[in-house]
Amino acid sequence: MAIDDLPPLRDVIARHNLSARKALGQNFLLDLNLTAKIARAAGDLAGADVLEVGPGPGGLTRGLLAEGARRVLAIEKDPRCQPALAEIAEAYPGRLQVIEGDALEIDPLEHLSPPIKIAANLPYNVGTELLVRWLTPKVWPPVWSTLTLMFQREVAERIVAAPGSKAYGRLAVLAQWRTDARIVMSLPPGAFTPPPKVSSAVVHLTALPEPRYPADPKVLERVVAKAFNQRRKMLRAALKGLHPQIEDLLVEAGIAPTERAEQIPLEQFCALARLVAAR
Ligand code: SAM
Repeated sequence: MAIDDLPPLRDVIARHNLSARKALGQNFLLDLNLTAKIARAAGDLAGADVLEVGPGPGGLTRGLLAEGARRVLAIEKDPRCQPALAEIAEAYPGRLQVIEGDALEIDPLEHLSPPIKIAANLPYNVGTELLVRWLTPKVWPPVWSTLTLMFQREVAERIVAAPGSKAYGRLAVLAQWRTDARIVMSLPPGAFTPPPKVSSAVVHLTALPEPRYPADPKVLERVVAKAFNQRRKMLRAALKGLHPQIEDLLVEAGIAPTERAEQIPLEQFCALARLVAAR
C-alpha cells in the first residue's frame, strides 16, 4: 500500500535541489517504508501531537502523518527544505505546521497539546544536546510522553548502557533515572543518503511519571558529573571536595569507596545524592 500520494523523496530532492549539506548534518532517509517504521516505533500516534526536529525533505514527517499523528509541528533550520515541506502540509490539510529555525533556540512545546511525542533524526551533537534538555525540564513529569530519536549507534548505546560497561556514564544515568530507554531499531550507514561513516540506532524513551528513585536533580547531576569526570579513579578520590565526609557517605549509600563510577548502579547514585543533600 502506498504511504501517501506524494512523489518519491528522490524526486522531491531533485526538484527542490536539496543536495545534502554536511554543515547541517544532512543524511536523509529516503525509504518511506523505513520512515513509517520509525514513526511506528514512536507508539500510537492517533490523537497525539508530534514535535519533529529537523524534518529535512520530510521522509519521517510523512511517516508520522501517514501513521496518524493528530498534528506535527516541525522545526527545520535549512530554508531550502520549506517548499518540500509545504507540499506535505498541503497533502495533510491542517495537520503539519513548519517553523523555520534552530531547534536549539526555539522551544515550541507550549504550542502543542498532550499527549505530546517528540521524534527526530538529527545531527548527532544537536540530538544529544536536545536530549539532555528534554530530560532536565524544570518540572517532572515533562510535557512530552515519549522521545523517539535517531543517534549514532555509539551514542544510543551510551543512553541504554548498564553499570559495568564502558558505555555507562552520565547520559545513561540521566536517561534511565527518569525514563524507560530502549534501542528499538538499528540502521546501517547505507540506510541514509548520503551514508554517514558510522551505524545509527533509534532510541525510544518513555517518561516515567516519577524519577525511578528519589533524589534532588541538581545534586544527582553534581555527584554523577564528578564521579564520571574521572571515571578511572576510585570514587573516594573522584568525589573528593563534594562533601567533607564523602567516604562515610559512600559507605552509607552501600558503595565501597574503592569502586569506580562505572560500577555504580543508578539506585546507589541516588542514595548518595540524598545523603549529600541531607548532610
Ligand atoms: N529528518 C530527515 C530525514 O530523516 O531524512 C532529515 C535528517 S538530517 C540527519 C537532519 C536534519 O536536521 C536536516 O534537515 C538539517 O537541516 C536539520 N537540522 C540540523 N540542525 C538543526 C537545528 N539546530 N535545528 C533544526 N534543524 C536542524
